Amino acid sequence: MDTIKTKCLIIGSGPAGYTAAIYASRANLNPVLCEGMQPGGQLTITTEIENFPGYPNGITGPAMMDEFKQQALRFGADVRPDSVTSIDLSARPFIANTDNDTVIEADTVIIATGASAKYLGLPDEEKYRGMGVSACATCDGFFYRKKRVAVVGGGDTACEEALYLSTLAKEVYLIVRKDKLRASKVMQRRVLDTANIKVLFNTNTVGLFGEDGVEGAHLVKHLGTEKEERFDIEIDGFFLAIGHTPNTSLFEPAITLDHMGYIKTYDDTTATNIPGVFAAGDVADPRYRQAITAAGMGCKAAIDVERFLLEEE
Ligand code: NDP
Repeated sequence: MDTIKTKCLIIGSGPAGYTAAIYASRANLNPVLCEGMQPGGQLTITTEIENFPGYPNGITGPAMMDEFKQQALRFGADVRPDSVTSIDLSARPFIANTDNDTVIEADTVIIATGASAKYLGLPDEEKYRGMGVSACATCDGFFYRKKRVAVVGGGDTACEEALYLSTLAKEVYLIVRKDKLRASKVMQRRVLDTANIKVLFNTNTVGLFGEDGVEGAHLVKHLGTEKEERFDIEIDGFFLAIGHTPNTSLFEPAITLDHMGYIKTYDDTTATNIPGVFAAGDVADPRYRQAITAAGMGCKAAIDVERFLLEEE
């Protein structure tokens, strides 16, 4: 078992984690960054990123995250492929254990663990997970070339996934529970203008069916009203794009969460309820959830750490 000490432990390797690492390294805090189960974070499973300033022609998620990582390494951040499996936040230094049998003693911690995809909660999602049910079109879309698929959700993610799948699949159903899309206007237009995407408004999924994998979905239009209408669609793939849950379980119950389960930060800073513990990115941001805002919060967290340590001295 290896024990290392650091002034700043950063947990998570999305835009928030890497930006914090870049700033903390440049401030001579010699940060240790644990990449976690999904190195690069959620952006590594998106397609093209068109709205991050500095990339006028867009860039793929994995390529952008690799550039973030290289920039953090350039300034000496200790980036490790470890996942933190437990952390004691009850006293300082904080003690974290990783899945590589490393113990990290940290004067401060930046939590940048992001968020994970939500599921509808249908038993069939479990039954067919990996057999037609997915929450990542970019990861699994390839398997559905020239087939029929459905995407659930009406936000930007759902539209993005439907558009991506429309380039591979024969037909894409977009299952939207309301009578309108929540996505930005530009994404809505793209979806509505795509010939092989069929948007099913006012529609809920109540089950899936199939012998050895998904062969179709049971849908209900106008669920719970007089106009309720049940019907089935034939599909080979069922993609969830209904939002995310912040990844906070490692820090509970020590860390204070807001009513939606996101880490609560105080006084317009990234400070949490525990002195020396800061939070940045999607794990602490129910509102904006963008790569650029996560990066901004990562920068703020590193500056907050620097000031916190200076004040202590
Ligand atoms: P959102 O929270 O914006 O949208 C979730 C969608 O899923 C909504 O349409 C919601 O329906 C629907 N939904 C939620 N629960 C259920 C359920 N149980 N059954 C059926 N439908 C459900 O999440 P996104 O992941 O789309 O986006 C998150 C943030 O990231 C947003 O701010 C978005 O703008 C941003 N984003 C930006 C991108 C870009 O700019 N390129 C790409 C992807 C995301 P309802 O509307 O009825 O609540």
